[in-house]
Amino acid sequence: MANDKNVLVVNCGSSSVKFAIVDPQDGKVAVSGIAEALGLDDARISWSFQGESKREESLGAGADHARAIDFVVDTILAAHKELLDSLAAVGHRIVSGGDLYSQPTLVDDSVEAGIEKCIPFAPLHNPAHLQGIRAARKVFPSIPHVCVFDTAFHQTMPEYAFRFAIPEKYYTENRIRRYGAHGTSHYYVAGEACRELGADPENFNVITCHLGNGASISAVKNGKCIDTSMGLTPLDGLMMGTRSGSIDPSVIFFLCDNMGYTAQEVCKILNKESGLMGISGKTSDFRGITEGKLAGDEKCALAFDMFCYRLAKFIASYYVPLGRVDAIVFTGGIGENSFRMRQRVMELLAPFGVKIDEVKNEKALVFKGGRGLISAEDSSVKVTVIPTNEELIIARLAADFAK
Ligand code: ADP
Repeated sequence: MANDKNVLVVNCGSSSVKFAIVDPQDGKVAVSGIAEALGLDDARISWSFQGESKREESLGAGADHARAIDFVVDTILAAHKELLDSLAAVGHRIVSGGDLYSQPTLVDDSVEAGIEKCIPFAPLHNPAHLQGIRAARKVFPSIPHVCVFDTAFHQTMPEYAFRFAIPEKYYTENRIRRYGAHGTSHYYVAGEACRELGADPENFNVITCHLGNGASISAVKNGKCIDTSMGLTPLDGLMMGTRSGSIDPSVIFFLCDNMGYTAQEVCKILNKESGLMGISGKTSDFRGITEGKLAGDEKCALAFDMFCYRLAKFIASYYVPLGRVDAIVFTGGIGENSFRMRQRVMELLAPFGVKIDEVKNEKALVFKGGRGLISAEDSSVKVTVIPTNEELIIARLAADFAK
């Protein structure tokens, strides 16, 4: 790799740090890894250089995010000075920038303060991001650090889409509104779809479905997000691995008032015990759900049906903000891999003129590296599978600040 053109992408979770050195030009990853179980006795880190097998080491009991980042630089990269020297920027993935950030932003002390202000919207993630940023700024004081916010892409939503129908003071005084999430992925696949379909970026309406353990959907008009399914937090919207998605809020009062649960307990039920997990009673993993369904497990079949039904209804509802839909994109682990889910969802969308090419849909995994059109020639809407690549887009956005 040539000098001064790589980006270190850092993604801090509540107890983990994912890292990768990415070439923003061609997306090549020189080294990537993950530190896990931070704060616990078995805190550890694993990594692999391109083409080499994975290595793993203990970080020592109770190691924190700063220790993980120091280990990356002092131990993993110590023998690869050329990689360290090649770093043009550090890109930090940030879950919530609230309504403060609508663009990737160069980090300084005021941006750290802004991320701190958004902690109520991402109480597990934003404190971890701050630890990562502070540690990385210490180690790399003289290259740009750039924050790429999951919420930023959704800041173009009109007010009638992002407000909740509750008294205004909760918005003006407490900033309670729809912020969305997965913005980097929605932005990336919307752009890729436009490019691949040879569409005019100024006249291209697309519905992007990011379906992983967390799942969200966005309506994107001419490159700008105009609606999205996640809300104040990632709990809203689609049914997910362990999250309920949208439910009648009265369920919460019922659980508290009639069954004696605390708000915190209900929060755990809706975030960690619901979704595919709650309905199947077995697994939050879509592969497991599909295998269960094929083996005749009725609860897995119900979970599969609910996931597809709710997704199809959400897609249908986005015909309203978009007016005309040119394309639908599937991405994320489920979107990229489950041809059965895609088939069911497209069948449910038949009233809108969506038509599937069953052969292409089943083969989406083997042509062009898992991407490509899966709609029939005479479908009213092009439906396409595009693997997401959040690291690459973070690297590209961060590299722009190093020019
Ligand atoms: P995350 O949101 O954690 O990044 P991913 O985008 O990796 O998650 O998606 C994980 C989901 O993708 C899991 O539910 C997994 O079962 C599902 N998945 C991965 N491969 C397949 C497959 N071949 N068929 C169906 N689902 C799959």
